[in-house]
Amino acid sequence: MKIRDTLIAGCCFFALLTALVGYFGGRSVTEISGVFDVVTDDVVPQMMVLNDLRAAGLRIASSTIELAYSAHAGKSRQGREADRTDDLIMIESAAKMFYDTLRKLDSHARGVPAEREMASEIETTGRRMVETSGKIVRAVQGGASSVEIFPLKERFEGEERVFLSTLEQASAYEAEELASTREEVDSTISASYLKIAAFSSVAFALAIVGGVFAARAISRPIATLHDGVVRVGQGELETRIDVAADTEIGTLAAAFNQMTDDLRSAKEEIVATSAYLDNVIRSMADALLVLTPDGIIAGTNPALCALLGYRDGELSGQPFVSVVDDRVAAQELLAEMAGGERVPDRELLYRAKDGEVIPVVISGAAMHGPAGDIQGLVCLAHDISERRKAEEDIRRLAYFDPLTALPNRSLFQIRLGQTIATGRRMGGVSGLLILDLDRFKDVNDTLGHVLGDQLLKAVTERLKESIRPSDFLARVGGDEFAVIIAPPCDRRSIAGRARTFLELLASPFSIDGKEIFISTSIGITLFPEDGEDGEALLRHVDMALYDAKAKGRNAFSFFSEEMNRSARARRTLEESLRRALLDEEFFLEYQPQIDLQSGAIFGVEALLRWRHPEQGLIPPSRFIPVAEEMGLIRQLGDWVLRSACLQCREWIEAGCRPVSVAVNVSGYQFNHPDFVDKVERILAETGLEPQLLELELTESTLMEGKNDTVMTLVDLKARGVTLAIDDFGTGYSSLSYLKHFPIDRLKIDRAFVRDIATDAGGRAIVEAVVAMGHSLGLRVLAEGVEEETERAFLKERGCDEVQGYLFGRPMPPPELQRRLAAAPVETAKGECFFGGL
Ligand code: C2E
Ligand code: CA
Ligand code: CA
Repeated sequence: MKIRDTLIAGCCFFALLTALVGYFGGRSVTEISGVFDVVTDDVVPQMMVLNDLRAAGLRIASSTIELAYSAHAGKSRQGREADRTDDLIMIESAAKMFYDTLRKLDSHARGVPAEREMASEIETTGRRMVETSGKIVRAVQGGASSVEIFPLKERFEGEERVFLSTLEQASAYEAEELASTREEVDSTISASYLKIAAFSSVAFALAIVGGVFAARAISRPIATLHDGVVRVGQGELETRIDVAADTEIGTLAAAFNQMTDDLRSAKEEIVATSAYLDNVIRSMADALLVLTPDGIIAGTNPALCALLGYRDGELSGQPFVSVVDDRVAAQELLAEMAGGERVPDRELLYRAKDGEVIPVVISGAAMHGPAGDIQGLVCLAHDISERRKAEEDIRRLAYFDPLTALPNRSLFQIRLGQTIATGRRMGGVSGLLILDLDRFKDVNDTLGHVLGDQLLKAVTERLKESIRPSDFLARVGGDEFAVIIAPPCDRRSIAGRARTFLELLASPFSIDGKEIFISTSIGITLFPEDGEDGEALLRHVDMALYDAKAKGRNAFSFFSEEMNRSARARRTLEESLRRALLDEEFFLEYQPQIDLQSGAIFGVEALLRWRHPEQGLIPPSRFIPVAEEMGLIRQLGDWVLRSACLQCREWIEAGCRPVSVAVNVSGYQFNHPDFVDKVERILAETGLEPQLLELELTESTLMEGKNDTVMTLVDLKARGVTLAIDDFGTGYSSLSYLKHFPIDRLKIDRAFVRDIATDAGGRAIVEAVVAMGHSLGLRVLAEGVEEETERAFLKERGCDEVQGYLFGRPMPPPELQRRLAAAPVETAKGECFFGGL
């Protein structure tokens, strides 16, 4: 039911209660008035009638008795006559009144039998008295005597007394009636009073109960609603109002519940959305900063704290500039964001708690409120340290040597260009030094690359000791370092620096428990005098280095124009060399090899000669290295091998005693994979017996080939060729490898033979080599024997063979052929030489 209906029903209820109270009150009043009606309608008129009857009776009686008396006592006639008339009139009017009243008595007599009986008694007695009065009147009028009248008078008086007593009784009865009616009225009034009071009380109580009930019925849900609203206001969105009533409040409660449901789900949605966003922000890899519009940090995400090394919340309240390395850049960024602009990606340096500077790419924007005002600023930063590091790494890889961390050739060239440019502008002399480790390749080959690398690092460290802040040190090749020396400098100071470098590197390096000795060669150029540009300087410094190496290593050379000239000459030589083979400018000479015991020629060494059309004879020491560097040596070597084999074969065919022919083999030839096949092919082509071919290999050639060397040697041996080690003692000085190689002959270098006459040490070496060669089962040949003393010494020490000017210079084939044909010649000491001297 609706509240309005409840209120209407309540009012009706109260009206009903009031009506009931009124009704019962009215009923009581009616009852009381009924009692009053009885009094006014019956009792009082009856009593009045009785009084009137008494008055009429008494008047009749008094007048009648008067009349009677007048007749009895003799009065003057005249006076008596007047009194009688009055009495008669009185009696007549009283009688008339009496009868009139008597009629009323009847009408007022109620249905009560006692009353009716009384009324008829009054009427009877009254009538009797009146009739007797009439008789007296008539007697008086008739002039009756007093005697006659007296009995009548007596009778009348008797009747009057009866009548009056009857009246008395009736009056008493009526008085009693009145008294009892009064009692009835009293009791009716008090009963009505009680009833009204009772009904009023009940109605009052009901009204109160009803009022309280109605008030509660209406106010309780309102109070529940109020509590609910208050709780929702306090944020308890799970609040529900339990008002099931079908009233406006019920509807309101339902609507309220719906509203809280909506609010709750909206809040849950907001909470979920905010949790989601929170999650997104927390798990973001990029560093987020929320700032107040005036640049104070209001919030951070974990990525930012992790990036800058702060605890969660530690940065709140700090100014933005406290986490940025560049204050000016930070202020600019803030100003742009505060201007409402979206700031696109830009690079900035953050500063971590520990002071570390972290490069980031940052973007920013202002957060606008609903009114368009700026509520805050948001900065999103992406750590680009890794990228920077990668860029740095790429730069390092591009410009720095990974092994020594020194600038590499590219950076060196850039720096050289800068130095030249600065020199042109500012003037002054700068120097360029190229340091090349001598025989580094040998270190690498024998000790391995790992140790080689360690040696390069150690060399770098030593060079750094002597490097000045204005110098620039770079590694420009495998074992090449460059130093650019800034102005001012001159020849003397640079020579001093070069000497220092040489000394620094000359003392032994201790690497992996091994002592390693190296020497260095240094080429030097000066800018601007030695070259206009970087290219010229580099070319010239290479020449200087080449020159230093040529000097015998562990030396330095300044570039000179002479070098330039010789370089030019070399270029010319290269061009001539290319042509020479086609133009048949090469030829071979043969130098005899003598068996010391028999004195007979047992073999010849083929030596290459080049007759240049303009320059004449060019020694092999000049053109062979060039041919090797040009890659021409294999072609040339093939030609030598074929020509020598052919020549040897020709001599045999010409009927000479067969001698072996020794051919010098360059490392470039020997280490080529098809070398063995080629030898075999040439032997087959020329038809020379393999035993007559000897291949001379230098120690360094044997060392270069590493593992394959032994295989190649074994292969060659298997084909019947003999093998000799040329220039023994000048190369590696390591004898241990000898026993692994299937060698037939050791050729002691001329350098040792030369010392025989002068130097006891030289003699000892030659002796030792001879002994060692023999212990390995090799034949030992001494080269460059020019003196008889040398020959004698060698023979005495058991050297097997000799070769040298003493026995014959390299000679053209016809001459050698003659020597072979000639008989051995006896020397002064009685020794025999085949082929003559
Ligand atoms: P090598 O193999 O040690 O040749 C011996 C050199 O000593 C020759 O010089 C020879 O003329 C010289 N000689 C011989 N006896 C004496 C002597 O008693 N006193 C002095 N002072 N010198 C003597 P050459 O002909 O100038 O050759 C120089 C080098 O050129 C040779 O040294 C060899 O390594 C190389 N060579 C020569 N021909 C060829 C060749 O066909 N192929 C290759 N790869 N190298 C060759
Ligand atoms: Ca030789
Ligand atoms: Ca030699």
